[in-house]
Amino acid sequence: MNNVPIISGKKWKDVQVVRFNQSFSISFHQQIEYMFEINENYLQLNESYLFSTIAKRIEKFSASHPEADIIRLGIGDVTLPLPPSVLQAMHNAVDEMGVKETFRGYGPEQGYAFLREKISEVDFRQRGIDISPGEIFVGDGSKSDTGNIGDILGEGNVVAITNPVYPVYLDTNIMRLGKSSQIVLLPCGEENGFLPEIPSHHLDVIYLCYPNNPTGTVMNREQLKQWVDYALENRSLILFDAAYEAFIRDNEIPRSIYEIEGAAACAIEFRSFSKNAGFTGLRCSYTVVPKVLTARSAEGSNISLNGLWNRRQSTKFNGTPYIVQKAAEAVYSPEGQQEVREMVSYYMRNAEMIREGLTEKGWTFFGGKDSPYIWLKCPGGMDSWTFFDRLLQECHIVGTPGVGFGSKGEGYFRLTAFNSHERTAEAVRRIKQWEY
Ligand SMILES: *Cc1c(COP(=O)(O)O)cnc(C)c1O
Repeated sequence: MNNVPIISGKKWKDVQVVRFNQSFSISFHQQIEYMFEINENYLQLNESYLFSTIAKRIEKFSASHPEADIIRLGIGDVTLPLPPSVLQAMHNAVDEMGVKETFRGYGPEQGYAFLREKISEVDFRQRGIDISPGEIFVGDGSKSDTGNIGDILGEGNVVAITNPVYPVYLDTNIMRLGKSSQIVLLPCGEENGFLPEIPSHHLDVIYLCYPNNPTGTVMNREQLKQWVDYALENRSLILFDAAYEAFIRDNEIPRSIYEIEGAAACAIEFRSFSKNAGFTGLRCSYTVVPKVLTARSAEGSNISLNGLWNRRQSTKFNGTPYIVQKAAEAVYSPEGQQEVREMVSYYMRNAEMIREGLTEKGWTFFGGKDSPYIWLKCPGGMDSWTFFDRLLQECHIVGTPGVGFGSKGEGYFRLTAFNSHERTAEAVRRIKQWEY
């Protein structure tokens, strides 16, 4: 405790500070050597965020070509409005909030029982997976939860992240650990079908995202089982991001890691209402932390991660809005399920159009079958940013340079199915006619 500064003084301009047994006074204009510290790890992050770099390039192009009709197949945001049953549920909830008898203040930090029960029943039990409501934590987005999960993990872990990757996993680990040798990148390239290979060395924490953003690739049961077996054997933790499970068409592809035997003892799963039900602006997600998932504390006792995450959430989070949870509940009604299926099919028709177009064009690409992302190999050996600029300038189409997701993404490019049929068809027409 003797490192804790003791502060005394009458006015803030004239404060006596005792720190590390040194006493000195601070006056208003005095340059002081002693200053608070920042989290220096933030300085190690990439300076500019990928999508703001892209936005700047588009802006520059638009300024000099105001007539250009730009089609955006870049950022991973949905385009269809919320489905009718979700909207109705939200309207009803809004009205409840305006009436004394049905008004809700702070809700349970873990989410309302009505939603946790529906999730447990429809997303898991009806599919033969035993996940109880107490293992489900409703949140305000998988970005927050995948970013915050590190709070309950130790700083000594070796953390594995794929390359290329959804930047949140990497950046939040750099924020916590710095650019440390504890962060290991698992290369995912054409040579391994964009899937990470099981390492011969020990990893403590492994982030997996399937269907994958950005590569659009999926892991089949056998491939996912290998990772679960690895984690069980090595006592590692898998952080499984299933934000795109609704886009899986092939019944052989697991939609949840808990379809794999033993996964509940080694995996946390993240799910979001963003991409399947159009909640990117509304914000709702959930995280599954099974009760059988435990870790050994330094003292040697078995600690439940469910308990730790519960502690973290109830301390730092006050719950997703009631209105939003009612909206999410409506996704599980028969009408809601039907509407969501139709939305996903709408996007997947776009993915099919892009795939057909690129096939005719003779370009190499991956994904787009069980995922809204198409990962194409830049033709003629172009690098990602050259291809970005040429596609923008010559076709007026915006996509995302693969290298923005990691060095292994160099030479690749991501197109998304999140647009209208008309605009997607037009983009495909332009690409087909393009003489690059
Ligand atoms: C879009 C996306 C999510 C969902 O994020 P939200 O914060 O729930 O909107 C999660 N993971 C990946 C990889 C995504 O692309």
